[in-house]
Amino acid sequence: MRIHLCGVRGSTPSPGAEFARFGGHTSCVAIAHDGGTAPVLVLDAGTGLRRVSGLLEGDAFRGTILLTHLHWDHVQGLPFFAAGDRPDADVRMLMPVDGDDGLEPVDVLARGMSPPHFPITPRELRGRWSFEAIKPGVHEFEGFVVTVAEVPHKGGPTVGYRVDDGRQAVVYVPDHGPPSPEELDAAVVELARGADLLLHDAQHTAEEWPGRFHFGHSSAEYAVATGLAAGVGEVVLFHHDPGRTDAELDRLLDRFQDAPVAVRVAVEGSVLDRT
Ligand SMILES: [Zn+2]
Ligand SMILES: [Zn+2]
Repeated sequence: MRIHLCGVRGSTPSPGAEFARFGGHTSCVAIAHDGGTAPVLVLDAGTGLRRVSGLLEGDAFRGTILLTHLHWDHVQGLPFFAAGDRPDADVRMLMPVDGDDGLEPVDVLARGMSPPHFPITPRELRGRWSFEAIKPGVHEFEGFVVTVAEVPHKGGPTVGYRVDDGRQAVVYVPDHGPPSPEELDAAVVELARGADLLLHDAQHTAEEWPGRFHFGHSSAEYAVATGLAAGVGEVVLFHHDPGRTDAELDRLLDRFQDAPVAVRVAVEGSVLDRT
């Protein structure tokens, strides 16, 4: 599979020269079956979703978008997704919702995307769109086996995804606020077990984490420890703090030069081929 990192930032976009190299768009990852094909599976719809249109070479998007949760940094690219907002688009979108309020998933999404917050609602996107709830378990989307697990995070139901094409597996856990900094989350370790790539929340450093623990995110060290426990091939530090400059991200990577698992820092616009 070919994995396009279209947005790697957490919380809010980070424009500016000091963020240009790692990128400022919020969470979005687009997956194609191999290098020669268009992405058909998109994980999260942060502002990085705008970049997915550019990968389609003028075509409409026809595929599935899976949201980990509905926080702004994971949905605000939706109304700006040119390849999805046109008459020939065909998009299936799934998201975790708790269902307690009796609202349809599209109505939960519309609470943040409708007047007066935004000029249009999700139902007004052009093309064919469907909006569905997703539950933990094993599913199949666009020819991939997708395993869904609940992930602890602050403010609404959140899931992580494991995408498997029968040869390689990538695990995506962009927002993860474990109940304790000392304890690895068993469900996340299980989701990532033996995967080739683990894209994991690395919003904080170990030093910052105690003062920011209540934000509901992980430290880079916690992300690496999770990858190590799960026996993954490589940990990709993801969901960078919006204030983390390029120079700081370079230094963050330096911390893991001698780690017993390969570690890289997610760079917007980069492409990871796993065949
Ligand atoms: Zn986030
Ligand atoms: Zn979040």
